[in-house]
Amino acid sequence: MSADTKMATAGTAAVHNPIVIDEKLCIRCNLCDWICPGDIIYKIENDKTTMPEVVYPDECWYCGLCQSICPTEAITIVFPDVMINNKSDVVRLLGKIVD
Ligand code: SF4
Ligand code: SF4
Repeated sequence: MSADTKMATAGTAAVHNPIVIDEKLCIRCNLCDWICPGDIIYKIENDKTTMPEVVYPDECWYCGLCQSICPTEAITIVFPDVMINNKSDVVRLLGKIVD
């Protein structure tokens, strides 16, 4: 992450931050707050001086809607290691038997 990139978080350091918002690209339009299905992002309305914040970082389900709607591509989704390097046996989890 560059020095100019700010992580929007309200959680503790131990909680994975699901999104990073580039303060230089963000135009404070509130669209990410509006679209987030879990109300994970909070942005003060009609205030161009404040950045969106991730208020419930551990409740993000990585749907990508905030990233998709952002008009300036200011949002980057940061998948946790447990998702990137998933070692779960999906077949076993689903109870399927593969011959
Ligand atoms: S990825 Fe989805 S759930 Fe997570 S902050 Fe963005 S819109 Fe909300
Ligand atoms: S949608 Fe993008 S530009 Fe708009 S407030 Fe969110 S991060 Fe900023």
